Amino acid sequence: MDRVKGKTCIITGGALGIGRACALRLADEGGHIAVFDILDEAGARLCEELAAKGARTRYWHVDVADEAQVAAAMDDVARHFGSVHVLVNNAGIAGVDKPTHEITEAQWDRVQAVNVKGVFFCTKHAIAHLRHAGGGSIINLSSIYGLVGAGDVPPYHAAKGAVRLMSKNDALIYARDRIRVNSIHPGFIWTPMVEGYLRAGGATDMEAARRGVDQLHPLGHLGEPDDIAWGVVYLASEEAKFVTGSELVIDGGYVAR
Ligand code: NAP
Repeated sequence: MDRVKGKTCIITGGALGIGRACALRLADEGGHIAVFDILDEAGARLCEELAAKGARTRYWHVDVADEAQVAAAMDDVARHFGSVHVLVNNAGIAGVDKPTHEITEAQWDRVQAVNVKGVFFCTKHAIAHLRHAGGGSIINLSSIYGLVGAGDVPPYHAAKGAVRLMSKNDALIYARDRIRVNSIHPGFIWTPMVEGYLRAGGATDMEAARRGVDQLHPLGHLGEPDDIAWGVVYLASEEAKFVTGSELVIDGGYVAR
């Protein structure tokens, strides 16, 4: 309880999956929650759920790949809540699953636009507000695919590798401002993204596909959104006040081999 009490937390891609779990857990810990997403209905529904728990919350339609939308929404959050303390750069897409030589430039660019440029735009436009608050925490969702290759989704691997190193470099740039920047590296987490990824790979029996993914993790199963949300709560809180430039791997042992 109260691990982020009174802190304004922005969660991009917050309407579903991991972002949704982050919103719920940060609200339970006393945070004010700004949800950015392009899924307006799901985002609005989540905010109603958060408000019913007693949280201060609001939804903004923001495509993180659109700098003007990001800049306007960041300023609006600061006006609405009075400050910004935590930014969770969670919005992301899996993109096409083809070998590198079959990928078009447009397919490559779309994944980089959301997964890399989105993190850049949101970080860029949050900095003034985090400085104004006297510091803060930026938490970037990378992946196990930002640490090791799996032999699939090439643009996604490139993007998540970039996010890992952007996090470390920004940690150095903004340490003097008391802005901490860390990355989180989930293993497979059961969300709409993973369901879509399995379907795109030809899976029809989702239970069988899920069991196959379970076996990729030494703990014997994939994760759930809350497994990541608790890591986000930790990095957002004062418990992590000496933690910056680090990579928090939450993957059931996937990269331990
Ligand atoms: P998800 O279930 O697809 O949820 C992501 C949310 O972000 C969706 O609401 C999505 O809307 C939204 N979004 C997509 N593009 C956006 C944009 N341009 N601007 C704003 N919002 C946008 O994904 P997830 O599985 O929770 O993943 C969250 C993050 O964790 C991603 O960065 C992902 O790469 C990372 N991650 C996930 C896993 C996993 O196994 N699930 C593992 C490692 C890392 P749409 O539904 O319309 O796209």
